Amino acid sequence: MTPPVRGRLAPSPTGAQHVGNARTYLIAWLSARTRGGSVRLRVEDIDVWRNRPGAKEQLAADLRWLGLDWDGEPVVQSERLADHVAALERLKQLDLVYPCTCTRTDIQSAASAPHQDHEGPTYPGTCAHRRAADAAGLTVPYAWRFRVTDTPAFTDLYAGPQQLDLKRAGGDFVVWRSADVPAYQLAVVTDDAAEGVTEVVRGDDLLTSTPRQLLLYRSLGLTSPDFVHVPLVVGPDGRRLAKRHGDTRLAALRANGVSAERLLGLLAYSCGWLPIVTPVSAKELLPMFRLDAIPREPFALTPELLREIGYRG
Ligand code: GLU
Ligand code: ZN
Repeated sequence: MTPPVRGRLAPSPTGAQHVGNARTYLIAWLSARTRGGSVRLRVEDIDVWRNRPGAKEQLAADLRWLGLDWDGEPVVQSERLADHVAALERLKQLDLVYPCTCTRTDIQSAASAPHQDHEGPTYPGTCAHRRAADAAGLTVPYAWRFRVTDTPAFTDLYAGPQQLDLKRAGGDFVVWRSADVPAYQLAVVTDDAAEGVTEVVRGDDLLTSTPRQLLLYRSLGLTSPDFVHVPLVVGPDGRRLAKRHGDTRLAALRANGVSAERLLGLLAYSCGWLPIVTPVSAKELLPMFRLDAIPREPFALTPELLREIGYRG
């Protein structure tokens, strides 16, 4: 018996949600709901210094406006610190992590490989000679780094088989920051496992995070979910959607005359589920959802498309 599908939406309250986030959430929601699965909402607010006031309330309002619902109370990641600490302690006991006293500048100047993803340049291994117990003798702030010994291969349910060399592309990665907060990789694994998430649908900018997370699942003896990484929304210049592309925040669309149904119609068209841009509700999309219809290329959002759905900005 396969367990029931449990998906999740995991927004960060670091800014407002834009069209790109909406497309990923729609795919995640449909993927779970078309199979009678549940959907959890987790607010990923561990980077406390980046959180924007009111963003939590705003993101729930944005999701409701889109017609995407979730099951149970939303989980607030910063309230799950005890579990994150327990996971770190386990990794220390297993001697799979070591204290790293390098500063960002140290790593930047020692790095030879160009940097692959948001984890930054490949860690040169400066502190890799340390054992977990060596932390006791340190008098300067340190982060905890996970020692990468291999790269788990995996098959993404959308992007296909993945084989990355983590030792070359990133190296040992941070699981706990020197500011004494959990790093994304550890928090996301701990929380997805605790919530019994069976399927993670997210933007393909996080594709290279997945082998790191699989190392943590394995080390902590946790069952890993399926992974689905979908292409991002970009601006007409092909770059990731940002402020320079105009105001594509959902709240701005709403304030400028765009209805949720028209935006959903555009997103469904971009995913290959509708032949033309026409208003549709999230529920009406349930029978049309197909992961393999989604084009491989990023979706380029243009001012013309925005005007087509009624944007008067
Ligand atoms: N909170 C992350 C973000 O908004 C998503 C992390 C994930 O889906 O694993 O980019
Ligand atoms: Zn170091």
